[in-house]
Amino acid sequence: MKIIETHCHLDYLKAMPLDEILKISKEAGIEKIITIGVDPQNLDKVFEISNENENIYFTQGIHPHDAKECNDDVLKKVDARCSEKKMLAVGEIGLDYHYDNSPRQKQIEVFKSHLEIAIKNKKPVVIHSRDADEDMISVLSEYAPRLDKKGVIHSFTSGEELAKKALDLGFYLGFNGIITFKSAQNVRDIAKLCPLDKMLVETDSPFLTPVPNRGKENNPSNLPHIINKLAEIKNTTPEEI
Ligand SMILES: [Zn+2]
Repeated sequence: MKIIETHCHLDYLKAMPLDEILKISKEAGIEKIITIGVDPQNLDKVFEISNENENIYFTQGIHPHDAKECNDDVLKKVDARCSEKKMLAVGEIGLDYHYDNSPRQKQIEVFKSHLEIAIKNKKPVVIHSRDADEDMISVLSEYAPRLDKKGVIHSFTSGEELAKKALDLGFYLGFNGIITFKSAQNVRDIAKLCPLDKMLVETDSPFLTPVPNRGKENNPSNLPHIINKLAEIKNTTPEEI
């Protein structure tokens, strides 16, 4: 199988050295990795990881958790990075009303600033959305028509209305280890309704380690567990996924 890991945070992995992670990931069939830069302090580090490794691509953007730390300098940096060849998307960006780590108004403002950067640079976006379906639907409906390449709502855990709206607007949905969790029937139901060619696979490492490796730090080599589970849900083969 030739697998692309579409969402992980290689800058956060601590359990193993990066070259070890890349080795076991390659053995697991992972051909290319997109590492997501979200931490204002780590944007350069993420860029360097991609620069130093041929098969690693990257994104940059400020996570809604850190929206309160976003300022013009950070936005300028994200904008400038868009001209780098291996920068594939702006993100992850979005809204998180579950933790409310940043005030909601600030989250919306920072999300929109990043969408403007993506529109200007003709980049797709990587979106994080949690417990914010209503505002997410309204912002995406407003901005999607101007986005050249749309993008993905990663780690999809939202409701059916947002799923359908996002698919209608041309976005992909990203699925990860959550689909292996007993409690996540709602996410498996969304995977069922999502067309195969609108689905992306990801680990979101170091978070959300899939069954059967719960308790260990996640890394891209766990992706086959997610693909196998998706195949079961979609009643098809891992190769097709
Ligand atoms: Zn992430």
